[in-house]
Amino acid sequence: MTKMIYAGGRAASAPLLGHETEPTLFEISSPGRSAYQLRTTGIPAVPLSDVIPAAHLATDVVDIAEVSERDLVGHFTRLSHRQFSVDLGAYPLGSCTMKYNPKFCDAVAADPRFNTVHPAAPAALTQGWLELMVTLEETLCEVTGMSAATLQPAAGAAGELTGLLLMRAYHEANGDVRRRVIIPDSAHGTNPASVTLGGYDVTTIPSDERGLVDLAALKAALGPDVAGIMLTNPNTVGLFEDEITEIAAAVHDVGGLLYYDGANLNAILGVVRPGDMGFDIVHMNLHKTFATPHGGGGPGAGPVAVSSRLVEFLPGPKATRLEDGRYDWTTPSRSIGRVHGWHGNAMVLARALAYINVHGGDGLTRVAQHAVLNANWLKKRLSATLPAAYDRPCMHECVLTSSQLKADYGVRALDVAKSLLEEGFHAPTVYFPLIVDEALMFEPTETESVQTLEALAVALETIAERSRVDPDAVRHAPQATPVTRVDEARAARHLIPTEDAAQRA
Ligand SMILES: *Cc1c(COP(=O)(O)O)cnc(C)c1O
Repeated sequence: MTKMIYAGGRAASAPLLGHETEPTLFEISSPGRSAYQLRTTGIPAVPLSDVIPAAHLATDVVDIAEVSERDLVGHFTRLSHRQFSVDLGAYPLGSCTMKYNPKFCDAVAADPRFNTVHPAAPAALTQGWLELMVTLEETLCEVTGMSAATLQPAAGAAGELTGLLLMRAYHEANGDVRRRVIIPDSAHGTNPASVTLGGYDVTTIPSDERGLVDLAALKAALGPDVAGIMLTNPNTVGLFEDEITEIAAAVHDVGGLLYYDGANLNAILGVVRPGDMGFDIVHMNLHKTFATPHGGGGPGAGPVAVSSRLVEFLPGPKATRLEDGRYDWTTPSRSIGRVHGWHGNAMVLARALAYINVHGGDGLTRVAQHAVLNANWLKKRLSATLPAAYDRPCMHECVLTSSQLKADYGVRALDVAKSLLEEGFHAPTVYFPLIVDEALMFEPTETESVQTLEALAVALETIAERSRVDPDAVRHAPQATPVTRVDEARAARHLIPTEDAAQRA
């Protein structure tokens, strides 16, 4: 007998109240129910054993939830209403740009002329798609100051690995065995992971007191066994490396390459270009910089653009414009091979080009200007409440510290972030970069208005004041959200993704 979930006569399709938890589909399952059934037509069914060899047919009844379409839609709609999303409100995460994405870009990607094309369709029938890819590649090269790009990598981290494999292929082609890649201590966590996957050892160099690469430490770490350096500029603390030309010269002097982590290019679009700073390889997160929401891990696109000396190693096949103006797939002469089953996450590529085209060159420059202005505005506005870790103009994100709140009231950055959820804002990134004590990293992005930023600042002031009068409330926040403060260590170690089948029986 299925237990009744909603006592008091409430239907399974009613909205959730307060802290009521959404039952699992198994809990609202009722034997024999299904979402829909096709009408019986009288045409005899082919027995399954005629199509699937007996050895591969399941013998046990599979235990799946049996629910009506009505209850199924109610279940997922209720869950969707408990989410905080980029469509709903400000999402000031630092380090991973999370901004509102124009619906126009979704409309372009949803055009059946794009989304009904099979990736294996011959080039003669897919000239439009190939033109889209070539145009996007050319535009990304223009934005980054590079010579050619691959659109295959499916995310930023996949782009990083691709870039490191290109670095490796380049050195090996020169008969050059190199072991190490240098990374500053403020780097995104995927950087050292990609270096290790790419078969290199990581050498970490410290940042100086300004939060920038310590040039002396870099020079001391350089040697003939250094394959390259992975950097981002503005760096992960949101600061512009003003000695970038000296950094580039020092790395090139020992025969190394410069890798640019361009996951969040919205700080520099149309203003400066990695190629002009001396970089050889750049990956871009189209899902952060241009359009496509990327909550929950995907889908993304992490194209990698390279300088002329690396073009022949790019993954293939890649869309190419031929001399006669037609398009076809070609593979670079010394290609490292494929890094994706097909041609990349095509719909993300379509969205990115739609975003670029709708803004145009000047529009993209304004995107960068607004992103940088918003971060600096917020940093200044909050200077009395949450001071900046480094007191210099920032780029698209600012790192603030709540170390004073900890010293005075025992309130930590985590508590501030959790409290913000109650105030109607998504929490920022906390404890990153690791080099800043009680770090709160905000990236307002170009999409938020000054009114939203003011409301965010007021919310943070409210939390700071509450820390003084009732620090316990801040330490136990959030309480007003559907899920209140969770024990994160326990949640990670004792995962219950679904209700245990035995428990249900
Ligand atoms: C997000 C991010 C990455 C990783 O990109 P994914 O698409 O999540 O794999 C790498 N570097 C930086 C600086 C990032 O912000």
